[in-house]
Amino acid sequence: MERFETGAQWRLALDDARSEGKTIGFVPTMGALHEGHRSLIERARRSCDVVAVSIFVNPLQFGDPSDLERYPRPVHHDEALLSAAGCDALFMPSVDEMYPDIKRPLISHEGVGVLGDLFEGVDRPGHFDGVATVVALLFELTGPCRAFFGNKDFQQLAVVRRMVDALGLPVDIVACPTIRDEGGLALSSRNTRLSREGRRHATAFHRALLAGAACFEQGGTPSQVDDAMKQEADAEPALALAYAVVVEAASFLRPALFEEAVEYRLLIAGEVEGVRLIDNAAIDGSDR
Ligand code: AMP
Repeated sequence: MERFETGAQWRLALDDARSEGKTIGFVPTMGALHEGHRSLIERARRSCDVVAVSIFVNPLQFGDPSDLERYPRPVHHDEALLSAAGCDALFMPSVDEMYPDIKRPLISHEGVGVLGDLFEGVDRPGHFDGVATVVALLFELTGPCRAFFGNKDFQQLAVVRRMVDALGLPVDIVACPTIRDEGGLALSSRNTRLSREGRRHATAFHRALLAGAACFEQGGTPSQVDDAMKQEADAEPALALAYAVVVEAASFLRPALFEEAVEYRLLIAGEVEGVRLIDNAAIDGSDR
């Protein structure tokens, strides 16, 4: 695995590979890698000639400076996982390398669209501007590629798709299923900040999603589906719920009634032990 710290070297190496006719599979991450990230890398490995991964903890997408400071950065663990998973090229730029003179997101919420102002955008103002800005810069440096993202961050995936469309970037976005632990907790770099008990409490997110799916299956209306999720989440006193809702998967709007041929998504977020966690599922409760 080759390591790169400057955007110029990264771009050159990937341009060289493309000039030999190789396809690039790109997996952007913030490090603290786990089996969820590994699944994206393995997916890229199966469908592309060169697997390129970036690790960059993006200050522009953190509202709370202490959240940024506490974000885990286990560099040796990450490098070992990447080598074992079949990564060819690792890009680990410094903040100065990525943002020599940017203090604020380049892409404002007008660019991200109304999507950036809903759910995670309400609770974390400016978050998606920061995400869209860093992903646009990374795509610019990486060049034409297939980019692999987790459904785990479903709203982020939608924002990235919209940004790629709006800017006409030569990037093919591939959505990958959410990987969970045996209790159903979606893997996340933030889980390392939970105690063993906290992880057990946080499995309530997944139970709430399954309760929403079961309610839909039994013919529940959208508000009944929301209530079923809330009820299950509220049954876990250690979980401070931010939202639990069913939305149209394309628009993130909350439906008044369910319609045939419209895709819906169950979204949930909240805090356990002061750690903010998000999860989601398809309306049938699956992670596809
Ligand atoms: P992050 O390092 O948290 O920015 O995540 C990098 C990529 O990994 C994003 O596309 C995430 O959606 C994806 N990801 C994070 N957790 C999981 C998971 N449990 N299953 C699948 N993909 C994930």
